[in-house]
Amino acid sequence: MMKTVLPGSTIGIIGGGQLGRMLAMSAKEMGYKIIILDPNYDCCAKIFSDKFINADFDNFEKIEELCRLSDVVTFEFENIDAKVLAILEEKYNLVQSSKLLKITQHRYLEKEFAKTLDIPTVNYIHIEKNTNICIEQPYLMKTLRFGYDGKGQKIINKKEEIEQYTILEEIVSLDKEISVIASKDKFDIQIVAVVENEHRNNILYRSKIPTSATEEQENLAVEYTKRILNNIDYYGVITVEFFISNGKVIFNEIAPRVHNSGHITMQSANKSQFRAHIEAICGLRVGNIINRETTLYNILGQDEHYFKNLITEKQGYLHLYEKEAKQNRKIGHINFYGDVYLGENDE
Ligand code: AMP
Repeated sequence: MMKTVLPGSTIGIIGGGQLGRMLAMSAKEMGYKIIILDPNYDCCAKIFSDKFINADFDNFEKIEELCRLSDVVTFEFENIDAKVLAILEEKYNLVQSSKLLKITQHRYLEKEFAKTLDIPTVNYIHIEKNTNICIEQPYLMKTLRFGYDGKGQKIINKKEEIEQYTILEEIVSLDKEISVIASKDKFDIQIVAVVENEHRNNILYRSKIPTSATEEQENLAVEYTKRILNNIDYYGVITVEFFISNGKVIFNEIAPRVHNSGHITMQSANKSQFRAHIEAICGLRVGNIINRETTLYNILGQDEHYFKNLITEKQGYLHLYEKEAKQNRKIGHINFYGDVYLGENDE
């Protein structure tokens, strides 16, 4: 039975990066108290916490302390030990399913999971110890774990390049990429947004609502996302990324959390992904979410000044995370109403 956690109660967040920060901001707006756990004493979410626990993500005692002090606990990223979570969810109020976390931490398990639900994936070869496998076409080799923003990926052409504990994915032509952000509360599933995503150097560059996918393609992606949520004991927001390749909707991956592409909902939607997540994990009703046309640009360290200056002349909604501006590090995003192209910088 899902617990109802009303404003005034305490929400624990594992992870103090920008997702933790925006979750905390949303929860504080609603009147919750926040405890953040993060190994980095200067993490950017800390400023929105009532209490901060400075500990590593594998520190069982400290994570348990967070659970003990919180009425509900959530996490902002996947690289937490799923075994630790499985033990703690027996005793404390953690509603984001360690089972789904374990699946999403492993690219092979994730694709197999999609397959069991009859959701199409790219063709793939799972490599464990044996790398002596003949390949007849180039593949995108990805590490099984801990990959993000294209890290741990490379194109390989011959068997000598195959590495252990990887997955070889067929390289598909991409018409476009979309993500479905959905929430599950104790009442039902809501679609927070369907977003089209454009990457540059494997990092999300721009997102857009509405997408240019067909209604049929969007409906299919939404249906697959609902299928995932209906088959797992999970509450909160999840994001499912899809490729559209030669017109077909193909599952890419699941993030069991709020997502970079969902930052667009801070302006596009009558309720942001952050608020939807807080409500869903607290046993409240998320309700129907409507979006309007909006464009999001991610801000990387090297582009800080360009975007800061931009709002002196162009109306936009700048969100900076108070992170040090390093090359290719996401330090903020900016949302614009409408379909906005930024000229030269956008080429
Ligand atoms: P991922 O970390 O798996 O989301 O991959 C990062 C990006 O690489 C995706 O958003 C795609 O743009 C691209 N990509 C990943 N897998 C494939 C694939 N099998 N075929 C073509 N492009 C891919």
